[in-house]
Amino acid sequence: VEARPQDRAAPRPVPNQQLASKELNAKVEALLKKMTLDEKIGQLVQFSAGFATGPGSEGKNQRFDDMVAKGQVGSFLNVVGADATNHYQHIAMENSRLHIPLIFGLDVIHGDHTTFPIPLAIAASFDPAMGELVARTGGVEARADGIPWVFSPMVDIARDARWGRIIESNGEDPFLSSAMARAWVRGYQQGDLSKPDSVAVSVKHFAAYGAAIAGRDYNATDMSQITLRQVYLKPYQAAVEEGAATLMSSFNSINGVPASANPLTLTQILRKEWGFDGFVVSDWGSVAELINHSIGDGPTVARKALTAGVDMDMQGDLYGTTIAAQVRSGRIPESVIDEAARRILRVKFALGLFDHPYTQAGPSYEPTPEKRAIARKVADETIVLLKNDPVEAAGNLLPLKDKKTVALIGPMADDKPDTLGAWSQGDPKYVVTLRQALEEKLGSDHVVYAQGCGLLNGEDAQIWSKNGGPQPIADENATISEAVEAAKKADVSILALGEPAGFMEGEAGSRVHLGFTGNQQKLLEQVVATGKPVVLVVMAGRPLAIKWAAEHVPAIVEAWSPGHEGGHAIVDILTGDVNPSAKLPASLPRAVGQEPLYYAQMPTGRPARNADLTHMPANSEEKYLSRYVDEQNSALFPFGWGLSYTRFGYSTPAVDRETIPAREIASNHKPVVKVGVDVRNTGTVAGTEVVQLYIRIPNVSVEQPLRELKGFTRVTLNPGESKHVEFPIGFDELNFYSVDLKQVVEPTTYDIWVGGSSLADAHTTLKVID
Ligand code: BGC
Repeated sequence: VEARPQDRAAPRPVPNQQLASKELNAKVEALLKKMTLDEKIGQLVQFSAGFATGPGSEGKNQRFDDMVAKGQVGSFLNVVGADATNHYQHIAMENSRLHIPLIFGLDVIHGDHTTFPIPLAIAASFDPAMGELVARTGGVEARADGIPWVFSPMVDIARDARWGRIIESNGEDPFLSSAMARAWVRGYQQGDLSKPDSVAVSVKHFAAYGAAIAGRDYNATDMSQITLRQVYLKPYQAAVEEGAATLMSSFNSINGVPASANPLTLTQILRKEWGFDGFVVSDWGSVAELINHSIGDGPTVARKALTAGVDMDMQGDLYGTTIAAQVRSGRIPESVIDEAARRILRVKFALGLFDHPYTQAGPSYEPTPEKRAIARKVADETIVLLKNDPVEAAGNLLPLKDKKTVALIGPMADDKPDTLGAWSQGDPKYVVTLRQALEEKLGSDHVVYAQGCGLLNGEDAQIWSKNGGPQPIADENATISEAVEAAKKADVSILALGEPAGFMEGEAGSRVHLGFTGNQQKLLEQVVATGKPVVLVVMAGRPLAIKWAAEHVPAIVEAWSPGHEGGHAIVDILTGDVNPSAKLPASLPRAVGQEPLYYAQMPTGRPARNADLTHMPANSEEKYLSRYVDEQNSALFPFGWGLSYTRFGYSTPAVDRETIPAREIASNHKPVVKVGVDVRNTGTVAGTEVVQLYIRIPNVSVEQPLRELKGFTRVTLNPGESKHVEFPIGFDELNFYSVDLKQVVEPTTYDIWVGGSSLADAHTTLKVID
């Protein structure tokens, strides 16, 4: 007899108690009753007012002053600082009929004035506490600047390194991204929107924006609803469960329906299934862009977006100009406007904006020593040691020891804006570069610096310099030769290479070539050809394809875009003052043609030929995969990968219950079984390991990936020390989506692995019975 799948039986709790509170909603309803149709629509309108307010620019934004006084605007973005925000807020509170405060939003992506590593790097810490700290610090700074609402966190699953916005994401994995999403929401909102230094989040970009076909930004996405729910929506759901106050709808279409007019994601899933009580803001102009998606003219697309569940129109002006007439003519029921205004007012009340609308003069833009210490600590945890081969009798090249002269080479070594990273509010002038930090640590007479080449050359470099980038180097053959000479004279060379963050990363930063830009590869090859030891520091906001380097350079460090304290953190890792502990949140490809590349692959029915198995790790499930004829399937460095200056050993994991009925799992929100493992530091220095748990669900009604991350934790161990680690497992880790889109558990024997990367091979099983 076929065993019945067990559907989830336990009800979900209310995601945000504050937004659901009776008292708050009574205030909202009382206000709504007083509002005219036009005033309600005004709440749904958001403009970017630029930064040009305050003394000296009086009258410049007369149009916005007038609109605020008439109640035609509910929100601004990019209005920052006490002067600018108070200017508009005074008009709203004193001159508008109902004195409804404005809500100011801003892109606070990896810290505000104090800039931390990019979100992708923070995910590499596998430490949600770091995400929470970054969000908290950035949120407090933003709030002090009059910003009670941040357009963060970005939780789009990003499995394609061609897509430039992977830098803002938590990488390829839904479990890791969900844990980070919860942490960022906690950090910003502090579990209480009414605190004077809390900010409301806007979780973005809802939804499936990261699955852009061919990695081309804004492109369509197309996927099964099972994949949508099981992979792409997971981190959103986690953020909503954590109480996220707002979401941002994305530019892409999903299975033919644009995300900013998508009733399935915006109403059915978000509101009906997840119980979300906050509001949804469109992305920049994404309502007006629906016209380009060819689903109607201005009034039509505005109606479609609003009725699908986009409550606020960012910088599109279609709600403000087309909705009122459609309500008056009966095309749109007034209840739709009421509902959107209600959702926005709830958040304004919850934030306490009615009682405390104004802001005192903001903080200094210069990071304080305390903030710098936090930024350095975070960056220390985000740098991944990819490779560290022995090169000399003394052992591994890293950590660097007893080196008299270091040649520091490469365009990333002393480049402030690109060390800071894309999407930053912080000032590049406060960046500590790798060069500054290395000279500080070793003494400048021990460091010979040679830039070698620019990040870009030729026409790209010309375009970039016109857009604020550095002046191109006239003769790179000469500067590369200088760098090679420096390498010959030094005991070791450190090459800092990457890609230009401001030019090639972030929004619209899609690439098809994922190597080092400009002449950097040439520089690398010529320095390696000196035969002297080389350490490669990669600084980039995405996984680059660095196969040549992996085959020819003994030590490689992935430092991402590490923010204001980046240089210090890289030196901490290179010298061993900090033992690296980060792990890759996204697979590094061998070749661009592998993208989209991620570890959680489905099996295929056609195993590879025997010959294919020779270059696969012994424990690899790759034998179930089809393959390319000219390259291996596996990542160059897989998800979860990262070395330490010590080594860790794992015992065979064990479950604390032999068999569990599916019914018991589904009727519980609590874990029902524990997976335990002993982890030992078998090396000679203290270190921190990210212990990772992977699960496969074989033999069930819907094909499942070969393994998926379902637990992780950081464990710090002294040499010789061992600790017992336990992972609690329940419905959330064991369910999958059935063909009729229910989350179910079916009787089967689960495979479980525990280890230090997605290649983990310490194995046990768990039997789930009918
Ligand atoms: C981006 C969003 C951002 C918004 C406001 C858009 O172009 O896609 O991530 O929050 O602009 O600046």
